[in-house]
Amino acid sequence: MKSYRKELWFNTPNRRDYLNITRQVQDALNESKIQEGMILVNAMHITASVFINDDESGLHNDFEVWLEKLAPEKPYNQYHHNGYEDNADAHLKRQIMGREVCVAITEGKLDLGPWEQIFYGEFDGKRRKRVLIKIIGE
Ligand code: ZN
Repeated sequence: MKSYRKELWFNTPNRRDYLNITRQVQDALNESKIQEGMILVNAMHITASVFINDDESGLHNDFEVWLEKLAPEKPYNQYHHNGYEDNADAHLKRQIMGREVCVAITEGKLDLGPWEQIFYGEFDGKRRKRVLIKIIGE
């Protein structure tokens, strides 16, 4: 069995952002030369997510509105976590949007459904953060 590891680094200009990373994940898969197996993609930070959904800007706006209803960023003092930090909302948003995705690899390609795309969800950006890609297979 082969394995391959790669980190993707991000530094979003906004506190919250959604980046389609499907191409970068496929690039890592190509580098690995693995044809059949599994690929794990996870945020390495507790205020960011990796998830699969549609690449449609209206939906991304809906995520923003929905997450702000569930866990509004402000006022900062509504959260126990916010003493020295101001990112309690980002921890909560990450929790509901998920830490990682796992995708099947078939014939050297991500075996995704027709509208499935892989996203990095940033909830406390404006600093360098990373995603781990781990691939195992043959
Ligand atoms: Zn925190």
